[in-house]
Amino acid sequence: GATIGILGGGQLGRMLSVAAARLGLHTHVYEPASNPPAADVAHAVTTAPYDDVAALTAFARSVDLVTYEFENIPTEALDIIEAITPIHPNRRALGTSQDRLVEKAFLQDIGLTVAPFADITDAASLDAALTTIGTPAILKTRRFGYDGKGQARLKSPQDAATALADMAGAPAVLEGFVTFTSEISIIAARNPQGEVACYDPGENIHRDGILHTTTVPANIPASLRMDAVLLAGKILNMLDYVGVMGVELFVTPKGLIVNEIAPRVHNSGHWTQNGCAVDQFEQHIRAIAGWPLGDGSRHSDVVMENLIGDDMDKVPTLAREQNCAIHLYGKVETKAGRKMGHVNRIKT
Ligand code: ATP
Ligand code: MG
Ligand code: MG
Repeated sequence: GATIGILGGGQLGRMLSVAAARLGLHTHVYEPASNPPAADVAHAVTTAPYDDVAALTAFARSVDLVTYEFENIPTEALDIIEAITPIHPNRRALGTSQDRLVEKAFLQDIGLTVAPFADITDAASLDAALTTIGTPAILKTRRFGYDGKGQARLKSPQDAATALADMAGAPAVLEGFVTFTSEISIIAARNPQGEVACYDPGENIHRDGILHTTTVPANIPASLRMDAVLLAGKILNMLDYVGVMGVELFVTPKGLIVNEIAPRVHNSGHWTQNGCAVDQFEQHIRAIAGWPLGDGSRHSDVVMENLIGDDMDKVPTLAREQNCAIHLYGKVETKAGRKMGHVNRIKT
């Protein structure tokens, strides 16, 4: 069978490796940190930094194709790999989602609605943007932000100086604050043959900037469910995308607004493990390996809840609960804010 290279050995890399193994494929995980969650299940692991040319070269030669579990892979590392073996999802999809400004411009260009936004480089551009966009608003670093990190909220233009200081000189975007009724996300997949399959949108609740629960079905009208499917398909087709993507959306009285896209399996898609015959991890492996896709249909309603930090103490109690599937990542050290696992409660 083929061997799939995975950049990143966290929980997503681990669950991708499990899915690949079930399809009779091998995975080779590349991860700078030692003993990553994926090491338990991958066929091979390379422990080396992303600037180790020899290690990257050997890794790329040992696999048939490369995928990734996170967006922030250095361009130079990708160049070395891509000279040897294909990368899915492609570089354009990755480059677009690595930079919030490029991402928002792309989404707007293909006719989708995003929050009003502006490129912020200094105090003058922030002042100008505040005049057009107004407050409340959110200033976000263009790159490297996740779990709400690298963001500052502006209640009024008086907050400009502190918000800019929070960016520590990093290039940023200002976004108008969207008054949403709820947040949903849609997990979509496309294979090289151009087949597209979407899962039902899930409704997301965040706590302290981190995803807390995803509930399917989302409490939205069927028309919005269809809008989410159509816009996700458009994004994938426009990027000639291969793999699974997570699309985060705001639900507003005027329709859906795209918040951000993630070119990978997504935390808000973990419910598919116990709600669908083919989950997002298998779907991603199928897509990048050129297999037919699962159709995305859902056999059960599910509430996914993340286990973060001390939530691990709840595991003995959770283990007594019926219809509660436990997924733990095997992380050695528990830290506040660290994703340790999740549970999928099946609603019967
Ligand atoms: P993730 O971990 O999902 O990658 P992130 O750090 O990239 O998160 P965002 O998704 O941009 O951050 O924002 C985190 C949360 O902040 C959103 O889910 C939403 O609740 C809120 N938020 C972000 N942008 C806006 C906005 N323009 N208007 C209103 N709320 C927003
Ligand atoms: Mg994000
Ligand atoms: Mg987000």
